[in-house]
Amino acid sequence: MGTVEEVAARVSAARAEAVARGETFYPGPSRVHLAAFPPKERWDDWVELDSQDWPRRTERHYLLVPTTCFNCESACGLLAYVDRDTAQVRKFEGNPEHPGSRGRNCAKGPATINQVTDPDRILQPLKRVGARGAGRWEPVSWDEALDDIAGRIRTAIVEGRRNEIMYHVGRPGEDGFTERVLASWGVDGHNSHTNVCSSGARAGYHLWTGIDRPSPDHASADVILLISSHLEAGHYFNPHAQRVMEAKQRGAKLIVFDTRLSNTATHADVWVSPQPGSEPAILLAIVAHLLRTGRYDREFMRRWWNWAEYLAAEHPDRPATFEEFEAVLGELYAPYTFELAEQESGVGAGTIARIAELVAGAGTRLSTHTWRSASAGNLGGWQVARTLFLLNAMLGAVATPGGTYPNAWNKFVPRPLYTPPHPQTWNELTWPLEYPLALNEMSFLLPHFLKEGRGKLDVYFTRVYNPVWTNPDGLSWMEVLTDEAMVGLHVALTPTWSETAFLADYVLPMGLGPERHDLHSYEQYDGQWVAFRQPVLRAARERLGQQVSDTREVNPGQVWEENEFWIELSWRIDPDGCLGIRRYHESQKEPGTKLSVDEYYGWIFEHSVPGLPAAAAADGLTPLAYMRRYGAFEIRAGVGPVHEQEVPADELIEVGEDEYGRVYTRAPAPMSPNVVPTATPEPDAQGRRPVGVRVDGVVRRGFPTPSGKLEFYSRTLAAWGWREQAVPGYQRSHVHPAAMEPDQLVLISTFRLPTQIHTRGGNAKWLDELAHTNPLWIHPQDATRIGVGAGDLVRVETEIGAFVVKAWVTEGIRPGVVACSHHMGRWKLGSAERGQRQMMATVDLTRDDGRWRMTRLAGVAPYESGDPDTARIWWSDVGVHQNLTFPVHPDPISGQHCWHQAVRVRRAGPDEAYGDITVDTAKAHEVYRRWLALTLPADRHSPDRTRRPYWLMRPLKPAKDVFALPFAPAVDPDGTNR
Ligand code: SF4
Repeated sequence: MGTVEEVAARVSAARAEAVARGETFYPGPSRVHLAAFPPKERWDDWVELDSQDWPRRTERHYLLVPTTCFNCESACGLLAYVDRDTAQVRKFEGNPEHPGSRGRNCAKGPATINQVTDPDRILQPLKRVGARGAGRWEPVSWDEALDDIAGRIRTAIVEGRRNEIMYHVGRPGEDGFTERVLASWGVDGHNSHTNVCSSGARAGYHLWTGIDRPSPDHASADVILLISSHLEAGHYFNPHAQRVMEAKQRGAKLIVFDTRLSNTATHADVWVSPQPGSEPAILLAIVAHLLRTGRYDREFMRRWWNWAEYLAAEHPDRPATFEEFEAVLGELYAPYTFELAEQESGVGAGTIARIAELVAGAGTRLSTHTWRSASAGNLGGWQVARTLFLLNAMLGAVATPGGTYPNAWNKFVPRPLYTPPHPQTWNELTWPLEYPLALNEMSFLLPHFLKEGRGKLDVYFTRVYNPVWTNPDGLSWMEVLTDEAMVGLHVALTPTWSETAFLADYVLPMGLGPERHDLHSYEQYDGQWVAFRQPVLRAARERLGQQVSDTREVNPGQVWEENEFWIELSWRIDPDGCLGIRRYHESQKEPGTKLSVDEYYGWIFEHSVPGLPAAAAADGLTPLAYMRRYGAFEIRAGVGPVHEQEVPADELIEVGEDEYGRVYTRAPAPMSPNVVPTATPEPDAQGRRPVGVRVDGVVRRGFPTPSGKLEFYSRTLAAWGWREQAVPGYQRSHVHPAAMEPDQLVLISTFRLPTQIHTRGGNAKWLDELAHTNPLWIHPQDATRIGVGAGDLVRVETEIGAFVVKAWVTEGIRPGVVACSHHMGRWKLGSAERGQRQMMATVDLTRDDGRWRMTRLAGVAPYESGDPDTARIWWSDVGVHQNLTFPVHPDPISGQHCWHQAVRVRRAGPDEAYGDITVDTAKAHEVYRRWLALTLPADRHSPDRTRRPYWLMRPLKPAKDVFALPFAPAVDPDGTNR
């Protein structure tokens, strides 16, 4: 085989030879050499031999219909192979017309067919029978369910109980449709899973750039630094992974920080396994090295950092010059020697020095990325992103080829048909006063807020979300979801059974990726694209000349798509239009009739996506027909450094300017901006909107931060009481060795398995066969000390409970650290009439007040169904649900749940069995109260009598006036705001 470099060289040579022979690359946006891609001209009748009929040469004729994958957030393109004889989908492969995924998928994309044909999927609306959670159901018509739900929502709105309506989303898979629906209802009812996922990283990026995600240009980088498992399971997994590998084939160096030897780490040129939470210490040692050796981009820093503001705020007695700032910076980070980083991280000083040299040599071609991982594991994890992006900001590797962009520049969110006004209400169940700077809703604290009587829910939607299983402290969720005084009506919108759906009043079957409409755009390279998820059988029928007006006509059973559901529900909430809701769901072409998805998306494609109407016309298609046929459209490639763009004179009307060059205007915001920043920077005192920043005399677009520059210094953090955290720094984690008892280990619980999909992996048989268990990774030294070998049972004790799992002894983890994937451990109660049978163990769950005990009754087993493969299930183990035993750990700034746990691990006793779980939810509430005490609430620390800085992003932002605190802020006993 040879080394990776040798293999890469052979691949490159083969490519060059292919080109020399006249072989062409796929002419569409994928621009890659994979001859097997069906040319789009033949998508109406693509012929393949039926592999299952071999040796007979039976031809199969297919309509190829694009959609996008719904099995992670990457939204890779899929092509459904719709058999022209049976009008059914036979398989899914990659869509070469999709510029992000370029025809490629991971294992989870093609496994979509398993989800579609899963014999256990929910095919009709169901209503509970008996007590909530008793596990008994009866079919109900869509009409009955809609009328009941709509009636309750209408009553809540009419009675002024808007905050009792909540929609809680797991996998969104779309850009803004549901926020728009909620805004049309006038409710601040959006809740998300983000604070158990990515808020830590988002906070770090947002504070720097005003935009909450990075867009690393891996393909053009010389050095790639990843703090996550991006090649196998990280953010934008397949689209990023293929570009990382392209860069490696060119000779780029890959550096991976991952305490666990992930598949990504195995591909690294330099892999380090730091003590969890020490990552910022290593990054700051690299920063100190750059400063010591002068290997940073002075001019970029001088022009684009808010250093002048920092000096004025923190060093007013020193000269306000960039040279002085450099001196201050040197002093600030001088303590971060390689030796100190070694002491904190356990990574050798020499290795860190080598990484520092690689980074220093990258110049503007340094692409970096962290997501989840360390930023989601640790108290102060948001500083991982802040210190990582500091490297880019020092090298000027921001929005450069091979550098890292703010994501909004590599993403395009089109303007929708209607934009309802911002809701005139603030929901403290999701945005409580204690977390004024949280990047997203404090979703995982909801059970505790409900238990404390902070509010109640009348109608609660969980949508492709399974908090009982996904969130920490799932049994506290179970306690509130079974209490009708706290949650009046629970509606689960889901394509598959879940631990949470079992606790619903209505289970409503929603479409999978090939059964629903969604529009999306994600940052995967320096370009902007939109892609269209669609019900493929509907598109196929329409291509054959049939008209389909309701997706239920083509989906399996009574499975619906959500957009049609939300439009119908909104009409039933406001049947006569007097609440002002219905008009946002009416046809514009035929007022008084319902808006159709065709009209909704047709309008967007026609009016809001630059270049699409012309491209469609060139093919003789309408923009909607173009998207239905090809599934994706690249708006532009090579967006470049938007911050450097000069602001045109016509956008500079009655300008104002602050002392640091932030420029404000009275010109209205352009309707179709080149970029769509996710932040809304504060207007100035005269109500003018920020439009740019003056740099060396020229007004440039800048960044959507308060200063318009990259914010090395966050005046927001300083003003809201966190002055000591206002610049990138290192805060010791809650699992730092100094914070733990000598007999405790750190448990890393956050890692994904590359071939699983959270809850929806449960009904994908190929994936289940590949990955169905989650042993505890444990280093041989620890295993020897504890006295266990591979396969032995160990008991893992957390602050609130314990679980029993198998050990996997491996040198792929640091001594003192254990790891267990969160992708496993699905379960259903023995009393459940229905449920998923390929990946759910059957358990007994008992409760004695707050003390819960789960024991396993049975693993999975073969069973007869319409799919012969279910009789071939050979595995019984489905892993252990560790998240039940974790208390909540909300970071006081970002709001991110800090997943890492300090645990004790011992050999399981003779009376303990695999899958045993014990939890004390009273203790869980105590831990919640302890972490709550770390916060600086808005009512005591707001500098301006608002609940939250207006410029910070918020999905579904309420109207500006409801940001005001409804009362005067309290003052700390010492009269200060800290
Ligand atoms: S990376 Fe895999 S799971 Fe994610 S969208 Fe692409 S094909 Fe689907």
